Amino acid sequence: ATAMKGALTYKNMKVQQVMTPIDNTFMLSVDEKLNFETIAKIFKSGYSRIPVYEIDQNNVIGLLFVKDLIFVDPSCNTRVADFVELFGRAAHVCWVDDTLGDVLRELKKGRSHMALVQDVNQQDDTGNDPFYELVGIVTLEDIIEEIIGEEIIDETDTSVGGGKSIKVDRGEDGGTFRWERLCLLDSKIVDQMLS
Ligand code: ATP
Repeated sequence: ATAMKGALTYKNMKVQQVMTPIDNTFMLSVDEKLNFETIAKIFKSGYSRIPVYEIDQNNVIGLLFVKDLIFVDPSCNTRVADFVELFGRAAHVCWVDDTLGDVLRELKKGRSHMALVQDVNQQDDTGNDPFYELVGIVTLEDIIEEIIGEEIIDETDTSVGGGKSIKVDRGEDGGTFRWERLCLLDSKIVDQMLS
């Protein structure tokens, strides 16, 4: 019954109701390097698609797909800018008041399962013209959750909920990840410890 209700109502819901706000969005700057620290930060975030911005978060120039990182050697310090240019992963763009039905149609086309959500900022005190502002992201999963009427927790999610404040509990032996082990892949640490 929940799924039937969701299927009937999601189409007219607005993106604003389900998006992850920009303040909770994990992003990278083009100026960062894909060294062990940055890759560890990405890994710990648990996200598969990461918006990459230049100058400020309003100016997203592409997406970093975590799957593409299999080509990266952390000791090469590849610039995020070069990586994004090489793979050319682009995101969809939608408006806060677009309906989920319209956004789902776009996301299904296969370019990416994430759309950047824009709004017009009219409240600039400096008297400048209104400008486009990035206010959040929405993914295929956000929409599917509305359709089925339930939260989906995937293998690498660290938190759930619109505000992303609820930690995922995988129980005692539910696959809690031992971060200390992974540090052995950091060449800096290995070089210090081994001859
Ligand atoms: P996948 O399940 O394909 O590995 P994922 O777990 O990274 O992807 P989704 O399953 O698409 O992400 O979305 C899960 C939730 O996480 C959604 O609420 C979505 O808005 C949010 N989300 C996705 N990517 C990010 C990100 N880079 N920063 C913050 N929240 C994100």
